[in-house]
Amino acid sequence: MKHLKFSLVLFILVLCAGSLRAEIPFKVVRGGQDTVYNKNHTLICITEPGNLAIINDTQVKVLPTGAFGIELQLKEGDNTIEISLFKNKMREIREIYIYYSPNKPIVPEKTMTLSQARNIIDKSTLQERLLYVTSKEGAYLQYGDGDDRLGGSKISYVDTGIVFKVVGAIGDLYKVQLSQNRFAYLPMEYAALSEKINSTVNTGSWYVSNAGKYDRVRISLPEKLPYSSWSELDPTTICLDIYGAMNNSNWITQMANLQEIDYVDLRQVESDVLRVIIKMKNKYQWGYSVKYEGTNLVIDVKHAPELSLRGMRIGLDAGHGGSASGAVGITGVKEKDINLALVRQVQRVLEEKGATVILSRQGDEDLTMTERKKIFKDNDIDLLLSIHNNAGGSALVSPGTSTYYKHLSNRDLAATMLNRLLEMGFSNYGLVGNFNFSLAAPTEYPAVLLEVLFMSCIYDEAKLAEPANQKMIAKQVLLGLEDYLTKVDESMVNDNPKAKSKKKKR
Ligand SMILES: [Zn+2]
Repeated sequence: MKHLKFSLVLFILVLCAGSLRAEIPFKVVRGGQDTVYNKNHTLICITEPGNLAIINDTQVKVLPTGAFGIELQLKEGDNTIEISLFKNKMREIREIYIYYSPNKPIVPEKTMTLSQARNIIDKSTLQERLLYVTSKEGAYLQYGDGDDRLGGSKISYVDTGIVFKVVGAIGDLYKVQLSQNRFAYLPMEYAALSEKINSTVNTGSWYVSNAGKYDRVRISLPEKLPYSSWSELDPTTICLDIYGAMNNSNWITQMANLQEIDYVDLRQVESDVLRVIIKMKNKYQWGYSVKYEGTNLVIDVKHAPELSLRGMRIGLDAGHGGSASGAVGITGVKEKDINLALVRQVQRVLEEKGATVILSRQGDEDLTMTERKKIFKDNDIDLLLSIHNNAGGSALVSPGTSTYYKHLSNRDLAATMLNRLLEMGFSNYGLVGNFNFSLAAPTEYPAVLLEVLFMSCIYDEAKLAEPANQKMIAKQVLLGLEDYLTKVDESMVNDNPKAKSKKKKR
């Protein structure tokens, strides 16, 4: 009985609360906690767009997304923050109470004794014994067992069916021995146990020819050996180390009609490592692939396309999709949707210029990195732009715009794109190299990543959600690509007075 009476009182209370319910929507999304240990306090709230907000006598801008915020200096002890919201003639006041203590309670750190750490390592390290594996589709080598949110730093992708000697394991990586002195890490998911073993072998003759869309270097080997490749600038060179190879290549034929390759050469850099040196004619490269045909190692160096967007095949990747939203802004704007909206705008301006655009995702699908790379490789693109937006740091101050490359050969493209994005008045968050982003790793075409702005900053979120801004960003991306093609063309003409401009007259 007593219980029933209590329920009735509760019911009436709920009714009253319902009729007194706020007319002006309001939500604190960041900085609503009761106790904080930092004097500088960021408060972010959401209301309806068009309302007016005053926080402690300071009028703050309510963005078109409804977000607004302020950086407060708290005093020690209790702080009352008054937020007045105005909608037409209505006014409502909300109060938030925050206690600021300058002394953060000490949380004991998770420490591990040396013997605990050893125990973990010992369990995951294989006994030293002879074990061989072969590489599967998608295999790549890492420098070490390091990790971050994008995985460990990659050396190179490698073809299938290459035999590796395993000398250890840590986590889900095999430690493999490439040569007497060199080791790498191969993810276990890309390795199958092998019956075959590898050994040090003599290399055979080379043949360098123009194969139509590529200059082709063919190196005859008695078996598939591990390799890694990289590019260098000044002079522009593609290098490739073949592990377990001894130089017996006494016949290097170089045909006369090569388009990109100036000459090829070799160095025995260690007693069992042979370096292939491919000196390029031009400063800018358009990519290369490395694969085995039988046991012959084939390096295809792609010819420069016509240096005009008309006829070029541009890959565009909108980051995330489907269940992967990417970063989510304070008011709930999702990075995946902004990325796709930007990609669609870039597609439109590129197609107006006559380019063929290949998209990784057309709508709200969640594609794996492997699926995305396969789409671009199968469609033989000339260049790739991946579009993302960043997160982290202050919700009130935009860290800015940034571009990313993995291979040095793509640095100039990333720098050129960054310059055009900075013209939008964005802060410079930096040009980032050796970036371990999966879609920047292929060598088959130039690839860069654009992290346009920060979803986590309320001003950036509002900017990105505005279609007029998306159009302006797309225009800057277009200008960046045009700048790059002009640079490539000028350098080809300057470096080689006999070369005709490959730029089509517009
Ligand atoms: Zn992203």
